[in-house]
Amino acid sequence: MKIVIIGGVAAGASAAARARRMDDSAEIVVFERGPYVSFANCGLPYYVGGDIPKRDNLLLVSPELFRRRFHIDVRLHHEVTSINRGAKTVTVKTASGSFEEGYDKLILAPGCRPLIPRIPGAELKNVSTVFTIDDVDNIMSALSGGIKSAVIIGGGFIGLETAKALLKRGLDVTLVEMTNQLMTIFDPEFSLPMEKHLAAAGLKLRLGQSVAELRGDGAVSEVLLSDGTVLPAQLVIMSAGLRPCTELAQAAGLEIGSTGGITVDDTMRTSDPDIYAAGDVVESRHIVSGKPIRVSLANNANRQGRIAGNNAVGAAELRCKGTLATSVIRVADLTTARTGLSEREAEAAGFDCQSVYAPEPSNASYFPGFGWLILKVTFEKKNGRILGAQAIGERGVDKRIDVLASAIYAGLSVFDLENLDLTYAPPYSSAKGPEIMAGMTASNVMRGDVKVVTPAKLPQLLAEGAQLIDLREQSELDEEGGIEGARLIPLDTLRADPSLLDKNGKYVFYCGVGKRAYNACRFMKQLGYDVYNLTGGYNAYIMDV
Ligand code: FAD
Repeated sequence: MKIVIIGGVAAGASAAARARRMDDSAEIVVFERGPYVSFANCGLPYYVGGDIPKRDNLLLVSPELFRRRFHIDVRLHHEVTSINRGAKTVTVKTASGSFEEGYDKLILAPGCRPLIPRIPGAELKNVSTVFTIDDVDNIMSALSGGIKSAVIIGGGFIGLETAKALLKRGLDVTLVEMTNQLMTIFDPEFSLPMEKHLAAAGLKLRLGQSVAELRGDGAVSEVLLSDGTVLPAQLVIMSAGLRPCTELAQAAGLEIGSTGGITVDDTMRTSDPDIYAAGDVVESRHIVSGKPIRVSLANNANRQGRIAGNNAVGAAELRCKGTLATSVIRVADLTTARTGLSEREAEAAGFDCQSVYAPEPSNASYFPGFGWLILKVTFEKKNGRILGAQAIGERGVDKRIDVLASAIYAGLSVFDLENLDLTYAPPYSSAKGPEIMAGMTASNVMRGDVKVVTPAKLPQLLAEGAQLIDLREQSELDEEGGIEGARLIPLDTLRADPSLLDKNGKYVFYCGVGKRAYNACRFMKQLGYDVYNLTGGYNAYIMDV
């Protein structure tokens, strides 16, 4: 059995290692066109920022180690230029010419390449992507040359992580993003705290604008924006998205899916039974929506590579259940994470869904060092099935999203969520942690105990004649501000005299995080009032973390 693998980083290296473990006699050859195998591309921005001190820390494994420990033949600077399915060979280009290599099973793991916007001046020196070791070598050399300013094009994962890294290096950094939101994989409100914290860290943001031209004499020195603004920029980072490397697959006539990735079944087999594919290059299936999705995430690539390597050597079959596109990013001092579908995605996928917000402390609020986080859980109205979760805050965010990812994978509902038996001691969580609180709130909604409205849907309810009631104290309103048009009736005042409100009206109650409003909803409902709780309260309304 001879296995040939194209691409030697996350999916390719995982496939090779698994294939070896399952079949010690197979011949395994990995062709990697770059100069490194299995390097830590996720660590690149952290190296630029100095969190990862040494370049060597990024180089996880050498071809020698693959050869010595795994008997895997890794060939660097070897680019596969075509797949000849009839002859079951690949054509490989090296510095000294081309040759053909035969295979019994082929695994495609060529990943993605950065999308380079067609901007005049993109070829200037010090215009770079953050994708390879060469890229960060160039960036580090520009930094050591004493540059002072940088412009980042694109407000996704790589753009934000690199912005943060360059701020740490003391540069004047502007980030330009075409849409009006950072990190569009989140619902729009999650952009607000990121913007606020990044601005506090010194980042200048230009949302809703694009870059028209890069200018400079040899090296880039300034950037022209679509509105005519000229920004100083001795370094420009292109982080405008990624494109799957499907050229080889396309030319070989393999099926390509609607998202642009290679079509695979759940064993990672392509439309050719002797060819597998894994990682950023494939079209995955979303576990919640069942729809095709393409993700560029290392967890996905590693899992899929392992399955492809296993199945290619004919070991007991492994299957990939799909992806939840679970991801996390640290921006300034904030962590933002998501799993499953955002509310926007759930609605677009046709789900009749509801979201609740749980602004909660990361651990017992009487324990020193806690931080606030906001957890948003989206669920299906008809049965309470959890569709997705997003969270943002200083601490404990990754843990909550991992709990929710496991819950969604298992097909749990919000009724299960309120019943989960999770760890608690004051340094780690609260007796009713954020996931439990979100589960309880959502279950209350499902049982009809309370009606909730999200900040995004509030204007619609107010337009239908609902009145907004602020149940906080006057001092809170003075200190923190409030929602325009709200009438202030502190909870205890309303409790003492519910007749302050006309029974024929419709009301939206809000407080700090939604708890006082929930109490008010309960007693007012039992008195016959039509009431809603603004879920997550004023904190979720302004997304204050
Ligand atoms: P890659 O890792 O891109 O590997 C593909 C390899 O194939 C490349 O080395 C390429 O040179 C080689 N290749 C391509 N074509 C050929 C050919 N024809 N012949 C030979 N070789 C070829 N994901 C996360 O989950 N969390 C993170 O925090 C995170 N951070 C990231 C930060 C950065 C800066 C980057 C760039 C990515 C990050 N990712 C992160 C994404 C993650 O790295 C990718 O999802 C993962 O590496 C994809 O693995 P892959 O094997 O499919 O492709």
